[in-house]
Amino acid sequence: MTSWNFEQLITTSQQEIASAENLQVLESFRIKYLGKKGLVAEIYGSLTQASPQEKPLIGKGANDLRSQVTEAIASKKQELQTMQTKKKAGLDAVDVTIPGVFQELGHAHILSQTTRDICAIFEKLGFAIFEGPEIETEFNNFTALNIPIDHPSRDAFDTFYLEQKDPGAKDRNLLLRSQTSPAQIRVMQNHKPPLAVVSPGKVYRPDAVDASHSFMFHQIEGLLVDEDIKFADLKGLLTAFCKRFFGENIKMRFRPHFFPFTEPSAEVDISCYICGGKGCSTCGRKGWLEILGCGMVHPKVFEAVKYPKGKYEGLAFGMGVERIAMLKHGIHDIRLFFENDIRFLKQF
Ligand SMILES: [Zn+2]
Repeated sequence: MTSWNFEQLITTSQQEIASAENLQVLESFRIKYLGKKGLVAEIYGSLTQASPQEKPLIGKGANDLRSQVTEAIASKKQELQTMQTKKKAGLDAVDVTIPGVFQELGHAHILSQTTRDICAIFEKLGFAIFEGPEIETEFNNFTALNIPIDHPSRDAFDTFYLEQKDPGAKDRNLLLRSQTSPAQIRVMQNHKPPLAVVSPGKVYRPDAVDASHSFMFHQIEGLLVDEDIKFADLKGLLTAFCKRFFGENIKMRFRPHFFPFTEPSAEVDISCYICGGKGCSTCGRKGWLEILGCGMVHPKVFEAVKYPKGKYEGLAFGMGVERIAMLKHGIHDIRLFFENDIRFLKQF
């Protein structure tokens, strides 16, 4: 009397089929169960010796086993074929004759390049680089720089104030620096002369954005302090800088001007390097380009940083990085620097 444990046979067959790692192994299981001399055929064959009571049970079990094995093999076959196709496609995708994907190499932004070029010239002249914070105290940004308490630049319309903790004590208010000059104050508060620093960085003013204004722009500030510094040193230094930056053939002129933190003060023009001073659209037909402000450090500034009275003299200068870049490269709209238009940025 043959008895078959169909439950066990179905479980084993399912496990075997699931474990088949390729189509050949799967085919061997198909033959084992469904082949002419396979298990299902053997079970049907045993029916002739089965009792009338057993026959329907064995018949049903054999049918179940056959259909479940058939189904499992079909689905496993599809899975293995899909895997094989993917593998083949994957291998074919590596076509060594296809040109590589070109990764474009970026470069520093035109303003970073300009800042770097300007600072590099002063570094060669012995200046150190100092970058102050963008959040400053009202004292460093205005008071220490001899800017009177009622000066219009201190107005909230001209400066971004951050906190008004104590409206009565203006000097303790925090603001986004409106110029890089407070970096000079920080240097002098922490170092004794002789000192020579240039300080590049972002500054902020609540200006409406147009072709020549931005609420954020960049400045570079310079300061040199020692015991015997003359206006001639300032002229010599800035002449050396302008000739190295704009070219040996440019002419320079110093025009008297007013800044609260320097006395005397001057604005510096260079002869237009495009038209050579004849007049063109870049220089507005004047032949001259205004490029920076400068002067001898005001005694009140030394007083604010507690330097001994009358002991030191200093020279200071400041320039706008956007303005210099615009003049040097013939750019007519400041907004182009900040719009991240790659077609513009790629040109420099
Ligand atoms: Zn010109």
